[in-house]
Amino acid sequence: MRKMLVHMRTIIKFFSILAISVIIIVAIIAFVYKPTYSVYYKGEFIGYTNDKSGLQNRINEYIKNGDTDLVAFVQIDELPEYKMCLLQKKAQTNDDEIFEKVKASGTAYYKYYAVTEESNEKAYVISKEEAEKIIEGLKDKKSYNKDKIAYIEKYSTDLAEFTDTDTAISKLYVAPPVVTYVNTSYDMNTGPKVELGLNLIRPISGIITSRFGYRGSGSHTGLDIAANTGTGVKAVAGGTVTYAGERGSYGNLVVISHGKGIQTYYAHCSAIYVSVGDKVSQGQIISAVGSTGNSTGPHLHLEIRVNGVAQNPQNYLY
Ligand SMILES: [Zn+2]
Repeated sequence: MRKMLVHMRTIIKFFSILAISVIIIVAIIAFVYKPTYSVYYKGEFIGYTNDKSGLQNRINEYIKNGDTDLVAFVQIDELPEYKMCLLQKKAQTNDDEIFEKVKASGTAYYKYYAVTEESNEKAYVISKEEAEKIIEGLKDKKSYNKDKIAYIEKYSTDLAEFTDTDTAISKLYVAPPVVTYVNTSYDMNTGPKVELGLNLIRPISGIITSRFGYRGSGSHTGLDIAANTGTGVKAVAGGTVTYAGERGSYGNLVVISHGKGIQTYYAHCSAIYVSVGDKVSQGQIISAVGSTGNSTGPHLHLEIRVNGVAQNPQNYLY
């Protein structure tokens, strides 16, 4: 009995020593090491972090918003992988480096605004408000192109060169034409030929389908020349484009001012290749034959007006 008791004591002693040893070993490990994550990016080891969720949040935030206000979002190839490990306490973690590595593999998309004139990008601004201010500014100044100005949102990996609103307004402003436009079909000259002092060339070759003059209940203020849709229409003389767009029964219309109150009209076009304010030279293709507006087949309706009064084109051409 006594012998057995001694035996029991020995066993208890042994287990006590074992338990204490385990506690000491664990304490040493906990003192020297700490739980850490090793971080891999695209299969490559890039460092250690103690703060996995903090680092991942930082990366997520960067992907969402970038690091400047101009960045709309960031595309990165892939997310880092974390593997738990024990690391000596004195070993360095490098969250900043890991973040920079992931960031370097990303592509930032910038968001900004382009102010457009007939879908051509003319100026770039940072905010929507600035774009709207430019459009308002051109309206206030009654710029001739005010109805053709719009803006679009841009997402690009490149930053554009930005302009301030005043610079953009003065760059886009087009003064209204000086020549007054007389929109009366009956304001026609059927008298003697008015000298233009210009040598005109034919805008297209084709068959004359309707001549200038009074007809039936109305009048024909121009000359109709039939040609295939898409045929290039040439400017009859050099000048400045003072209208380019849709206008009622004319359909798509180009008006060129040649100075001294002389204007030529090119109507029913299928396409227009010039913009208001463009300087065009004689023979330059300005539009394409079509059948827009009040028209029954593809033809060019050509008008020659002097101070708004329609002249007979056949006094000069065809
Ligand atoms: Zn006509």
